Amino acid sequence: MSTLLIKNGYLMTMDSAGNKYYADLLIENERIKRVAPKLEVKADKVIDAAHRLVMPGFVQAHIHLCQSLLRGQADDVPLMEWLDTITSLEFRHTPETLYASARLGIAEMIKSGATSVIDMGTLHHQDSIFMAIEESGIRAQAGKAMMDRTENLPPLLRETTDASIKESVDLLHRWHGKADGRIRYGFAPRWQLWNTTGLLQEIKREADKNPGVGIHGHAAEIEYEIQAMIEQTGMRNIVYLEKIGVVGSNVQMAHCIWLDEQELQIMAETGTNAVHCPCCNTKLGSGVAKVPEMLKKGINVALGSDGAPSNNNLDIFGEMRQASLIHKLRLGADAMPAEDVIKMAITNGAKAIGMQDQIGSIEEGKLADIIILDDGGLSAAPVRNFEQEDIIKRLVSSYHSSSVQSSIINGRLVMENRTLLTMDETEVLEDAKSALSELWNNKLSAEQ
Ligand SMILES: [Zn+2]
Repeated sequence: MSTLLIKNGYLMTMDSAGNKYYADLLIENERIKRVAPKLEVKADKVIDAAHRLVMPGFVQAHIHLCQSLLRGQADDVPLMEWLDTITSLEFRHTPETLYASARLGIAEMIKSGATSVIDMGTLHHQDSIFMAIEESGIRAQAGKAMMDRTENLPPLLRETTDASIKESVDLLHRWHGKADGRIRYGFAPRWQLWNTTGLLQEIKREADKNPGVGIHGHAAEIEYEIQAMIEQTGMRNIVYLEKIGVVGSNVQMAHCIWLDEQELQIMAETGTNAVHCPCCNTKLGSGVAKVPEMLKKGINVALGSDGAPSNNNLDIFGEMRQASLIHKLRLGADAMPAEDVIKMAITNGAKAIGMQDQIGSIEEGKLADIIILDDGGLSAAPVRNFEQEDIIKRLVSSYHSSSVQSSIINGRLVMENRTLLTMDETEVLEDAKSALSELWNNKLSAEQ
């Protein structure tokens, strides 16, 4: 049995009552054992969190670890042009370059306070991503990208329906529930335009019969996609997904920008999760999702960065600030309160991954996914003390990721005083540099 005691911190619990108070917190193995003022117990490790904020870790609910190396490779261009450049590199991954890419993304996210992620992989070598997740200590739903309707794309971007499903189901059996339960499998059909109805229906059947398995895709990101969907299926994205039965609480769809009233209603009624990616949507000029309206309807909206080249950070603090600002342009200064934003980044993310009973708040018995932050430094100053300030508003509007000091995931300390304990940061950076050169070499030599 291992024990970890966090003393003297200000706990922002994110429980249903929104409790915040000074207390000690005892972690036993992977769970929160006790929360109380002045715990007089012995522990294997004691962290003094005086003048520190202790809170549940963030959930990055839509990312592409396979693209972390490609940051800065396609800037100032619209989505379809961006997609051409990024896919031409993404599909040149070897198992080694993919591993380097995943480690780079995970390191950045742990350092910016994420304790859980939902990832869409690339077509092949998915084991490399799972290995990086397992070693890093982060919690993740992940799965290989599925693309079985890509006959118009280059051969590297094609797979048959049967092969795609077989490889995904094999990966599910190999990885779902592994790493002390930190890893969950998530089928990852890329977007409805590149998937057959048969594939989508089959993976929904598989997901429904395997508890904790999700389905993670993109939907209604750009206007062009809606017209193309109507030409291909006669329906808009979410109407189509409902018609074929691919909706529900184990389905997460990133972006959901161009949804009409009927589609919003379907999302709400079926409990289908949306993931808002405000920095990515702004960068690519894709549009602004109707998030305040979605929240009002009871749709579970989580928050994510999308891939490094479409953002260009994997920093949940950037997403929170952007989410808090972007909707005010359209609906006014009270359109997106900080309390709603932080819930999207933690509570709703936990729900999207299907783990709301296990993570997303500091409560006895829950899994210990916890981060410890300083007082926000110059950008959030002056904080007289945590009790007197509206700390949620400061977190959303003023804090930077550099305030995240330590991170505990599944009861294990993975970062202490901004030093990663599960990977060597210098090595991660060096490996990423050489892996990017290798990707470009692979692409250029294949095109000669
Ligand atoms: Zn994406």
